[in-house]
Amino acid sequence: MTVDVAVVGGGVIGLAIAWRCARRGLRVRVYDPSPGQGASRASAGMLAPVSEAYFGEAELTRLLVASADRWPAFRAELEAAAGVEVGYRDEGTLVVALTPDDLAEAERLRAYQAGLGLPIEALRPGQLREREPLLSPRLRGGAYAAADRQVDPRRLVAALRAALDGTVEPRAVTDLSEVDAEVVVVAAGCGSAALTGLPVRPVKGQILRLRAPAGAPPGFRHVIRGYADGRSVYLVPRADGEVVVGATAEERRDSSVTAGGVLDLLRAAVDLVPELAEYELAEAAVGHRPGTPDNAPIVGWLEPDRTVVATGHFRHGVVLTPITADAVADLVCTGEVPSVLAPFGPSRFASSLVDAGRSGGTR
Ligand SMILES: Cc1cc2nc3c(=O)[nH]c(=O)nc-3n(C[C@H](O)[C@H](O)[C@H](O)COP(=O)(O)OP(=O)(O)OC[C@H]3O[C@@H](n4cnc5c(N)ncnc54)[C@H](O)[C@@H]3O)c2cc1C
Repeated sequence: MTVDVAVVGGGVIGLAIAWRCARRGLRVRVYDPSPGQGASRASAGMLAPVSEAYFGEAELTRLLVASADRWPAFRAELEAAAGVEVGYRDEGTLVVALTPDDLAEAERLRAYQAGLGLPIEALRPGQLREREPLLSPRLRGGAYAAADRQVDPRRLVAALRAALDGTVEPRAVTDLSEVDAEVVVVAAGCGSAALTGLPVRPVKGQILRLRAPAGAPPGFRHVIRGYADGRSVYLVPRADGEVVVGATAEERRDSSVTAGGVLDLLRAAVDLVPELAEYELAEAAVGHRPGTPDNAPIVGWLEPDRTVVATGHFRHGVVLTPITADAVADLVCTGEVPSVLAPFGPSRFASSLVDAGRSGGTR
């Protein structure tokens, strides 16, 4: 049967697009041989536009903030439709630094973020430990980003699948011209390059899941983003006892968990929160972030055919899920690119598209 919208890729981006399109009355089908098992499964699920605002990415930061603002309503609507909770927490991020050099690096970034007008406040060691008594007494200082949030991406995938009024066909698409639909949306993460010619490359991330003893919740509530002797790490506590420890960033395609990767993450984690040494190491996994040359997503029409792309979300796919899904649903319904996403169209990589026999449009 010809559907209105076929979505190639069933990670958080593809599933959310399919759900939003179905909500508007469109008939949708998702193609994916292993839905939810790509980057979305590895992901930590931080919604952290403030503590992840990096030098030279001010335009991307504006998009992250705009999408993060949509998360409370998106989450409420999704949980109501699915009957599944997505693990949304709003305690904010504590940035912590172990050595004077670590503190200098953390403070440089905090000053940049504050200069953009983002809400981030410097904290002294005593103030950090007042918020989280389990933090190491060796900490030199840090900051608090109250507006950062988190969700559990595995729960998010489950909720999107439960809410979706449409089919998920468990197969890979190798040729877009064979997909029977009015509009085809390519949301295939790292698989998008082979389908479109766009410059999306895998950036490997090793990431661990620890578990607090005896089924208790972790002994801390904030997301902790730390600098420890030149290594950086983040710790994401879930209400169900899990603590996510992430992540490496490697320009590699393989999926091996390495001794060095695990060692770096655990050493930094335990330096910052010593109690974590007592937690169970429940999982060591690898995911590949769909990276782009400018670290920003690619969302828009591919001309001259009926294809839309929504890919390249790199390290921000979960925070960017609501804005991407709504923008693509708008695009499909009206043909127009919503202004918030105008700077992120595929035409900025026109030379790659010409090589692949396509062009990026603004229709
Ligand atoms: C270690 C790690 C930590 C991260 N932490 C965060 C975080 O804290 N916050 C945040 O916002 N983001 C985070 N990210 C980034 C985020 O996970 C990604 O940006 C996001 O998951 C991308 O979603 P996606 O749906 O585009 O890709 P994916 O989840 O990779 O989904 C793509 C899907 O497409 C399918 N596919 C591929 N090719 C084809 C084909 N030819 N036909 C059919 N299907 C196909 C795959 O099977 C896959 O299921 C993290 C990523 C990693 C790896």
